[in-house]
Amino acid sequence: MKIKKNNFIIKIFLFLIILGNLIVWPYLFSQEFQNRISMLLDYDFNKLLTTGNLFGRNDLTKSNSVGINLQQINNVGYSFYLGQIDYSNSPPIGDDLKNNITQIIYKADFPKRLLSNLAIIIVNTLAITPNEQIITPNGNINVPSFNPNFLTEGGEYNYNPNNFSIIYINSKKIDLLSGTLTHELGHHISRQLTNEEWAKFYQLRNIPNDAPRFLQNWYISPNEDFAEVYKNSFTNLPVKTYFGILESSHKEIIGMSGYTMDQEGPTCSNISNALRENFDKLHPKPKSVLTCNNGSCTESLANSEEFMKYSKAWNEITDHDATLQNCRINVILHQEKYPQDFQGGTPYHSKGIVDQPTKDFIKNIITRLD
Ligand SMILES: [Zn+2]
Repeated sequence: MKIKKNNFIIKIFLFLIILGNLIVWPYLFSQEFQNRISMLLDYDFNKLLTTGNLFGRNDLTKSNSVGINLQQINNVGYSFYLGQIDYSNSPPIGDDLKNNITQIIYKADFPKRLLSNLAIIIVNTLAITPNEQIITPNGNINVPSFNPNFLTEGGEYNYNPNNFSIIYINSKKIDLLSGTLTHELGHHISRQLTNEEWAKFYQLRNIPNDAPRFLQNWYISPNEDFAEVYKNSFTNLPVKTYFGILESSHKEIIGMSGYTMDQEGPTCSNISNALRENFDKLHPKPKSVLTCNNGSCTESLANSEEFMKYSKAWNEITDHDATLQNCRINVILHQEKYPQDFQGGTPYHSKGIVDQPTKDFIKNIITRLD
């Protein structure tokens, strides 16, 4: 009896403690931690707001991980995954941007079925929190640590082993979206290429067979060149990688001692000089070139119709001479062997446009993947 009575008192005591906790703790939270807690809740809530579909539970292993959900956008026959990484108080992705993205995908002739394992994430790099993960239909993917190039270039393509790729777009570079997104979509296409198709691409772009597909130097990475070619084919924005037809970066329209249109680096100058000799036999120098022997006439000369015609003919020769083009690409790919060619900066750059056979090649790949 005595034991039972004690038990009852203990129960009352425990009840009072629990009741006290129920009243005291919420009070403390509401006073001391209100701002902080509401901020955290808001943050997660905002991330949930970006979702239309929730793919399973957010069973993250790291306790401080935060899941970024994807929204499935359905627009004019296109269906794609979209997400954002931003501050809690940032507005969700608006309809204009959704329409803009759809338009870019459409203009890039991008095969609809390839959108099923791809997401586009708009990123504010300042708002990334540690251990953040993207919740995708194929499982969670870690948000990569972006390097400073992302701030200027504005895009990154990540292929993940679970066969789900993510295109990250820098929200602060959204004005470059057309070029950036088309380039990144090109990376998703390039992942589907067969070895035969890569060999054909190398040939079309005058890339030496032994050049590794992925290189640290963006400008001479064939994989990046494919994305740039894809971009140019659908946006006409210039190719920035150093393949295809290379032209001299050091053009000198005319000099005191005569004329020079391409100032060739020392390594390829013998080839260029021999071409020039042949060219001069077939194309007499314009009168305006012969009479201009001081700096004051160079500007009007450069704009004269006679000179432009002459210059165009010379460019045709240098563009299509395989020996000269091979020499130039060799210098570009093996900078360490030809330091004297790089004294005035990178001696050659891409002509910036893609020729018709390469555009046709891209079209054929898309047809195959459609
Ligand atoms: Zn790229």
